[in-house]
Amino acid sequence: TIKLAARVQAVKPSATLAITARAKALRAAGQDVIGLGAGEPDFDTPEHIKEAAMQAIRDGFTKYTAVDGTPELKQAVIDKFQRENGFSYEQDQILVSCGGKQSFFNLAQAVLDPGDEVVIPAPYWVSYPDMVLLAGGVPVFVHAGAEQGFKMTPSQLNAAITPQTRLVVINSPSNPTGMAYSHDELEALGAVLREHPRVLIATDDMYEHIRWRTEPFVNILNACPDLNPRTLVLNGVSKAYSMTGWRIGYAGGPAEVIKAMKKIQGQSTSNPTSISQVAAQAALEGPQECIGVMLEAFRRRHDLVVTRLNQIPGIDCLPTDGTFYVFPRVQGAIDALPGITNDLEFAEYLIERAGVALVPGSAFGLNGHARISIATSDQNLEQALERIARAVA
Ligand code: PLP
Repeated sequence: TIKLAARVQAVKPSATLAITARAKALRAAGQDVIGLGAGEPDFDTPEHIKEAAMQAIRDGFTKYTAVDGTPELKQAVIDKFQRENGFSYEQDQILVSCGGKQSFFNLAQAVLDPGDEVVIPAPYWVSYPDMVLLAGGVPVFVHAGAEQGFKMTPSQLNAAITPQTRLVVINSPSNPTGMAYSHDELEALGAVLREHPRVLIATDDMYEHIRWRTEPFVNILNACPDLNPRTLVLNGVSKAYSMTGWRIGYAGGPAEVIKAMKKIQGQSTSNPTSISQVAAQAALEGPQECIGVMLEAFRRRHDLVVTRLNQIPGIDCLPTDGTFYVFPRVQGAIDALPGITNDLEFAEYLIERAGVALVPGSAFGLNGHARISIATSDQNLEQALERIARAVA
């Protein structure tokens, strides 16, 4: 056997990808499985974005670019931050990466030394803890269950911060819970962070546009502009423009941190794909109506799924603020099923007995729950809910 590095042992393979692979394998074996694990919109990339990429190929824009992104795309990102968020960045405060995932990876590599702690509210996006571990850092989880709307409270944040804390992660709206912090909630978290000037803040705004609350989108910098010198704003085109395969994410923040992240990227992937950068520029600068079309479908499916889930005994689902996930508590159903003792077994049971694949909550750090993706057709959702109801009854 070949000896692998210790860091590989520290990292878990993505549970969400595992469920998707499992559903695919069962389907290939002839079983009828409805997949509710998808982490991407079920819509095609809008035509004008694809056309911009095809033109880039025809123009021969197929070579290395600047590591941190073309000046044109960085300008489009600067304009986006100014227009939609009210933030002012210079070119040296922006880094374009191969997806939001690489943005966070670069950040962890750039700021964490062994033993440095990162506060992560749970449930969390599966990749945060593992990327922290890969950088030698220590994830510190804050339990934010359904009873508190899946949101970290200021006193919890305060209690989690130690002299080793280097970074706090805020993801709003959240994958997997769909919950978004209000302006006041962010102001209160910011008041705690104000007392800890050594701590950096990462705000992951990947689902900024997939929201149904009428209030405008806010992140912690809107609530506490004074935290700007130590806050990294992470965002991307993957979810808003249905561009997950193009691999473009971007970050805005203090020039020193951005420069360090760029250095890491320069020795790993170098620039993101030149063609994808042109496409991302078209997404940010072009018509924004395509977002509304997806949003309408997600909102309708959200209402449908939340209503139906709450009619199933043993399942309780809070309505969400956005994203294309809901995160019902399924503990009652688990308790009622003989031989089923936790959410992993529950997910296993559903995929085997009901032909429905969803991701167990413990993959996101909260047992007794499940993540359901609504990024699939209304028909699939209706059928899946019927199957779940029958399997649980
Ligand atoms: N952040 C969150 C909360 C996500 O859910 C995802 C994707 O699942 C990402 C970041 C990264 O997206 P990408 O790397 O596709 O841009």
